[in-house]
Amino acid sequence: MTTAPLTDAELRHVARAVDLAAEALDAGDEPFGSVLVNAEGEVVREARNLVRTTGDHTQHPEFELARWAAEHLDPRERTLSVVYTSGEHCPMCAAAHGWVGLGKIVYAHSSAELSQWLGELGVAPSAVASLDIRSVVPGLEVRGPVPAFTDRMRAMHRDLHTRDRHRS
Ligand code: ZN
Repeated sequence: MTTAPLTDAELRHVARAVDLAAEALDAGDEPFGSVLVNAEGEVVREARNLVRTTGDHTQHPEFELARWAAEHLDPRERTLSVVYTSGEHCPMCAAAHGWVGLGKIVYAHSSAELSQWLGELGVAPSAVASLDIRSVVPGLEVRGPVPAFTDRMRAMHRDLHTRDRHRS
């Protein structure tokens, strides 16, 4: 089975998620951003990582979008909505996405790529396992990584951890 390339609209949404990740990094947070797009192709909600500025390690953009969708969209609207995100969902966010019944996920870089980058930077593994989304939500349609964004995302994660090293 061949997979069709992402459309221009899909690439624009991924690019926006990557821009939100850059905004998060600029604000002192971790470089992750996400966009929720409804069945009509309209962006209905954007979010970025807030972990550092809040001190709350559950402040991931994908989790925020799942909570927002549960509150504002009916179950059918949720299944037709797509989440575009800079980094593949962590297990917490993948589970939240699955529990609220959202549709497809498109991510710029995978969790496996992030683990590799952080390993190369000498960053200790996090307390939460790195799993691919389909290990958490097996039936979900998932697209990614998108190679056009790899270098930019990798640079953002390098910048975050270089900054951390200079601070400690
Ligand atoms: Zn997460």
